[in-house]
Amino acid sequence: MPATVLKVDQNKPDPVVVNAAARVITGGGTVVFPTETVYGLGANALSAEACRKIFSAKRRPADNPLIIHICSMSQLDSICRNVPDTVRTAMERIWPGPVTLLLERKQLVPDIVTAGLPTVAVRMPANPVALALIERSGTPIAAPSANIATRPSIVDSSDAIKELGNVVDMILDAGRTYFGIESTIVDVTRKPYVMLRPGVYSPDDLKPFLGEIASDMRNTKENGSQVPLAPGMKYTHYSPNKPLILITDEELFRKIPSITCRVTLIGTSQMIRGLAGDNISLGDGENTYEVASNLFKAFRELEDKTSLAGCIHPISEKGIGMAVMNRIGKAASRTIGSETDLRQYLDSL
Ligand code: AMP
Ligand code: MG
Repeated sequence: MPATVLKVDQNKPDPVVVNAAARVITGGGTVVFPTETVYGLGANALSAEACRKIFSAKRRPADNPLIIHICSMSQLDSICRNVPDTVRTAMERIWPGPVTLLLERKQLVPDIVTAGLPTVAVRMPANPVALALIERSGTPIAAPSANIATRPSIVDSSDAIKELGNVVDMILDAGRTYFGIESTIVDVTRKPYVMLRPGVYSPDDLKPFLGEIASDMRNTKENGSQVPLAPGMKYTHYSPNKPLILITDEELFRKIPSITCRVTLIGTSQMIRGLAGDNISLGDGENTYEVASNLFKAFRELEDKTSLAGCIHPISEKGIGMAVMNRIGKAASRTIGSETDLRQYLDSL
């Protein structure tokens, strides 16, 4: 059955819509809803049966655990134990917000949510629709990003309807999400704290709240022998359905239209200005928040082009830029710095 699609204002959600979605959650169904990061595919986090539907709708491997979304500290205490006071103080300052914390789980949390791990990933989203939905449902909501596994995250409800319209029960149609990139995941069960996934806020941004955060970006794509810290890291992620090439040389990037007309360039407005071709703009390169919010949309736009592949360039890794570069690195099928290598790779496609 096709999903029920209900329009909702992200800043002022209609209680009638929220109630309808909450009924789906309490009835054990799945709802796609906006957060301030990307769209989430949610179900009752305390029901193993409901959470199983998330895994099957997304075709997500069972060993990749889910983030639980909460709307209150009492919900936090229902699913986590031994939360240190220092972490609680930090939560009061960073939540609601795009930071996911790894904590010790309580037994109440179904194994399927944590993939059997002793920890659970939790956050309080800063989005009025998400908060109202959790509150009205009266239960924490488990919600990974609302895309089919391996695909780019969804930042626009029209993409959610296209991709998930036949595999979930309800979609809350709220247009574009605010940040357009996922939360930062920090493991606070260990000292020093460890960042498992860069996100909206960099370790430097979070330092005033959480102190020094070590960053361990072990990634099996580059380093097959190591155990990935966040289980999700070992899988292909964020990838459009055609090759995406990261061009590390700025001059080469700007020269591409004279080499081939078979690729789409994805770049900041400064980088693609004046270049021939049906290219995709990431917006103002001076504003990394703008670039971040356009990234996944650009990956999906690339799929609609007739080109053979996409070429993208690096951006500044400051602040949210660190997460942008992490997503580009994982989505890219190749990193290329010379014209010869580019020609060779294009010929092989
Ligand atoms: P997403 O599915 O895009 O929302 O991403 C959720 C991320 O959180 C994945 O990378 C998961 O591997 C990670 N995650 C969730 N729970 C845990 C956990 N208990 N330990 C480590 N990583 C987790
Ligand atoms: Mg995801």
